[in-house]
Amino acid sequence: SNKIQLGIVGYGNLGKGAVKAIKATEDLELVAVFTRRDPKALNLGEPGVKTVHIDNASDYQDTIDVMLLCGGSATDLPEQTPHFASMFNTVDSYDTHAKIPEFYQSVNDVAAKHHTTAIISTGWDPGLFSLNRVMAEAILPNGGNYSFWGKGLSQGHSDAVRRVEGVKNGVQYTIPSEDAIEKVRSGINPELTTSEKHRRVCYIVPEEGANKAAIENEIKTMPNYFADYDTEVNFISEEELARDHSKAPHGGFVIQSGNTGEDNNQLYEFSLKLDSNPEFTSSVLVAYARAAYRMNQEKQFGAKTVYDVAPAYISPRSAMELRRDYL
Ligand code: NDP
Repeated sequence: SNKIQLGIVGYGNLGKGAVKAIKATEDLELVAVFTRRDPKALNLGEPGVKTVHIDNASDYQDTIDVMLLCGGSATDLPEQTPHFASMFNTVDSYDTHAKIPEFYQSVNDVAAKHHTTAIISTGWDPGLFSLNRVMAEAILPNGGNYSFWGKGLSQGHSDAVRRVEGVKNGVQYTIPSEDAIEKVRSGINPELTTSEKHRRVCYIVPEEGANKAAIENEIKTMPNYFADYDTEVNFISEEELARDHSKAPHGGFVIQSGNTGEDNNQLYEFSLKLDSNPEFTSSVLVAYARAAYRMNQEKQFGAKTVYDVAPAYISPRSAMELRRDYL
């Protein structure tokens, strides 16, 4: 087959999204999904998808062009990316922003040595948001750069509200503050803290007979999670939770507003509105797999970030087609 051959490591939300994203392409092909769990016990729900234990991945070095690493950032990727980059070209979505420099170093050492290409920290943030922050700032140095997140379901904050006494179930959305966005768009370059930029909205299913006022108070005063934010608490039924709050939406804005010349304000805005955070993120990973493959063919070895990848590398189209139809 002429198609670029892919493997997926880790079958969580991103791994499942990656299976769908590969199917949507014509130039990429899935060879197998690799998992730490018993491969036979995983219900892939996709006939024809091969599942293999992760320990046997090294048998596929001649078959697979790029491994999509879909493990978690907290503990999986710091081990899995250097391990797999010694054998394969890789793409991952490592998102612990503060630790990206050391992560880059550990992956680059391995990939440079083994002549593989490892694209790290793709996705939307880090990823597409990062690209837009850098482009906007390079173009409008006289201005302020702002990132807003949401509307988004936050796993950590949802867990926190579910631990409150009297709460049977619940979810939390982070929502950009309309006030803050308008201020930024107006070009006044306001100073805004994270809590001024975002609101938190909770949907809570209370246990029978629970004290709703006490639940609301405990959530709104919870240090770190809610106390510094404008927080809204709504009580709903288990049925409403299942009906209206079972997706994993996310998204946000990167906004740069700056002046050029005497008094011309220029507004640069990039936004995403996602029904499914993991399905979008894995679609980004899949597109960057083309880049990992092509850059490796060109002997661009080592760890790379979205800043190092020219857009033509992620497109299924030829350079000629891009010049003719997309410029
Ligand atoms: P999951 O928790 O769903 O999956 C992580 C790993 O956990 C899987 O690879 C899988 O490994 C294992 N796992 C999954 N489900 C189960 C289960 N039921 N029982 C036991 N183990 C399980 O994480 P996500 O896929 O949602 O996200 C992965 C990472 O992607 C996140 O940590 C986040 O950092 C990053 N991310 C980045 C974004 C960006 O914009 N850059 C955006 C969104 C996410 P195995 O199959 O080997 O058991």
